[in-house]
Amino acid sequence: MTRSPEHPDESVPSANDLLSEIRQVGADRTRGGYSRHVFTAADAELREWFTAAARARGLDVHTDRNANLWAWFGAPGPNAIVTGSHLDSVPGGGAYDGPLGVVSALSAFDLLRAQGFTPGRPLAIVVFAEEEGGRFGMPCLGSRLLTGTLPPERALALRDTDGTTLADAARAAGRDPAHFGRDSETLGRIGTFVELHVEQGRGLVHLNAPLAVGSSIIPHGRWRFTFTGQGNHAGTTLMDDRRDPMLPAAEMIAGVRRSAAAVPGARATVGRVIPIPGGTNVIASQVDLWLDARLPEPGSVRDLVAEISEKARAAAELEGCAVEVREESFEGTAAFDLALRDRLTALLGGAPVLPTGAGHDAAVLAPFVATAMLYVRNPTGISHAPQEFAEPGDIDHGTAELARVLRALAG
Ligand SMILES: [Zn+2]
Repeated sequence: MTRSPEHPDESVPSANDLLSEIRQVGADRTRGGYSRHVFTAADAELREWFTAAARARGLDVHTDRNANLWAWFGAPGPNAIVTGSHLDSVPGGGAYDGPLGVVSALSAFDLLRAQGFTPGRPLAIVVFAEEEGGRFGMPCLGSRLLTGTLPPERALALRDTDGTTLADAARAAGRDPAHFGRDSETLGRIGTFVELHVEQGRGLVHLNAPLAVGSSIIPHGRWRFTFTGQGNHAGTTLMDDRRDPMLPAAEMIAGVRRSAAAVPGARATVGRVIPIPGGTNVIASQVDLWLDARLPEPGSVRDLVAEISEKARAAAELEGCAVEVREESFEGTAAFDLALRDRLTALLGGAPVLPTGAGHDAAVLAPFVATAMLYVRNPTGISHAPQEFAEPGDIDHGTAELARVLRALAG
């Protein structure tokens, strides 16, 4: 067991111990890191692990209509203080993004119990389904369905790279797709949501501080560009006779960097490109390309994407190809509850307040309930990659502070 001054109690496992319990689950031998996606074997194993860990603590565990997991400290009720995060990952992701918020929640409950704390308000841990959108492309799937931000008919029709729909994947995992959709009963129970998360940047390293309170999340979205041309033989089709969609796709990728670099604060990324059919000796007939764009000014994200789309259309035309653009998801500015933020900052002895460019379930919940985020220092600053990291001492510190926050909110 890993011990630090922040976690002196030998009788209960620390958040670090809990994290090592799932070290093997969903390990990706091809990409490195972890690939843990909704309704896969890794997802089932993580759900079983969480259920067993929560039940061992006497918590009442159930799965809501949208496959989010809940563990209640006492009877479920209204005005609850909820903490937690997600257990899924991006393809080849790190060990901390998501799981850190879940293990620290379990460990914080242990600390509260060891202190003999009896909550005056209902307390719960939530594990949201498919926060990263790693399998079906839609981020924050569980929280969007729960809040009704995403219509269930649109969600259930989403397909993974094998063509399996979310509806079929849910059915295969024993979930009833007919139950998916806005869940007012579950949503109505949440009074306050506090999500602890590994920082996805080096803000805390520069501030030389172990923990921060979140202020806001900048607007962000995902767009799918489908370039179509004419599939053909790589050896017999002369260069002048080609309509190769890979060319405008390549132009677009380079153009995204140029367009985003010209706008202060903008971040735009092409991280996924799928040529169809994808053969070495085949000119592609279609190229699907996903754009992730984020910018502090809400209106400007769509302006930037409009500019990128226009250039993509011109590049496609030049090659005798066509392009179709589809907005897959969009989130405006998410500002966390101001009063709650101030309260946590004071409680944590003037902890720094940081904005972020990363999306979270807490942002999806923010328009409906009071939400706050705590960020734990990440010495590498890297996230969504195997090099993501948090020091064991910082994890114990974050957990102890989370316990203090829960104690103050639920006392
Ligand atoms: Zn996350």
